[in-house]
Amino acid sequence: MSASLSFTHLPHPAPTAAEVRAAVLANPGFGSTFTDHMVSIEWSEDANGIGGWHDAQVLPYGPIALDPAASVLHYAQEIFEGLKAYRHPDGSMALFRPDANARRFNASAQRLAMPELPEDLFVEAIQQLVRADKDWFPTVEGGSLYLRPFMIATEAFLGVRPAKQYKFLVIASPAGNYFKSGAPAVSIWVSDYTRAAPGGTGAAKCGGNYAASLVPTAEAFALGHDQVLFLDAAEHKWIEELGGMNLFFAFEDGSLITPALTGTILPGITRDSLLTLAREEGLTVSEERYSLDQWRADAASGKLIEAFACGTAAVVTPVGKVADRSGEFTIGTGGPGQLTGKLKARLTAIQRGEEPDAHGWVSVLD
Ligand SMILES: *Cc1c(COP(=O)(O)O)cnc(C)c1O
Repeated sequence: MSASLSFTHLPHPAPTAAEVRAAVLANPGFGSTFTDHMVSIEWSEDANGIGGWHDAQVLPYGPIALDPAASVLHYAQEIFEGLKAYRHPDGSMALFRPDANARRFNASAQRLAMPELPEDLFVEAIQQLVRADKDWFPTVEGGSLYLRPFMIATEAFLGVRPAKQYKFLVIASPAGNYFKSGAPAVSIWVSDYTRAAPGGTGAAKCGGNYAASLVPTAEAFALGHDQVLFLDAAEHKWIEELGGMNLFFAFEDGSLITPALTGTILPGITRDSLLTLAREEGLTVSEERYSLDQWRADAASGKLIEAFACGTAAVVTPVGKVADRSGEFTIGTGGPGQLTGKLKARLTAIQRGEEPDAHGWVSVLD
């Protein structure tokens, strides 16, 4: 697939020394080191009010200059995506469902009054960066190259209206296992805060949603928990999602529930993929409302056997314990469950090229 723009390549004049890179790739952590290059594409509105993408570049990773009046710094016109590239056993490099990220990026762009990026250009930009930094795949077990495409409003203007200039960027960060010790079951705190209200930006992947989740998350940490759970804004009763992961509930009768996409939940690509895999495993899958009270009751009766969170960064994370101001309850044994492990193993095997891709999810780079 060829994008309509051609990319200018400005190779890094002083790339990271091989031994420094090797040390990073053996122990990458998450999100704290970056590769030698990044992608940048500009958008501006011309005199006739028609916008266009131009100046596509693969350039050395580094700081960007912004006017202090750039609208992103004042009114938070910012959206992002997160996806991973994998080095398959046959040596090829592959992305997992990048077209789905491209579509979601444009849905977020619409909600934040930002210009859409042609889907093939979004994917091409990511591929260009992965090719430029192909020596940055972690050597550690379970590693991947995490890609972060994002868009910011760069116009210098303090009036409140959609900006007329934007910058789309892609950066890459070698990633190990998100949870250092594999995936232990996490403890989650049910927040009194809300993440998203009907009509708000809950379904858009925008930085503002994350800014609003930091205080609730800090509160969860302070109380000794690993993650924060948000309930719906209207009744404070229905389970929505964690700060950055969707939730699933598994029952002893073979059914699996995840909250329906009501507009206040981020439509996760991991969530969507797991729905498909769970159906193939013969589970009765449904997207519906599920309340905290029901969750507590089902955990107590033994009807509910497992719960897990999912998202690109950590893939699948078992939930062991849930707490709110009234007390806490344990899910199953409190440790990682069988179904959770099975779904995680199947999804990661497909992503890593260790199991055939029957769904057209894996996009191998040429
Ligand atoms: C990104 C994100 C997810 C997970 O989406 P994936 O596509 O599976 O990575 C879930 N919830 C929120 C709030 C997110 O921002």
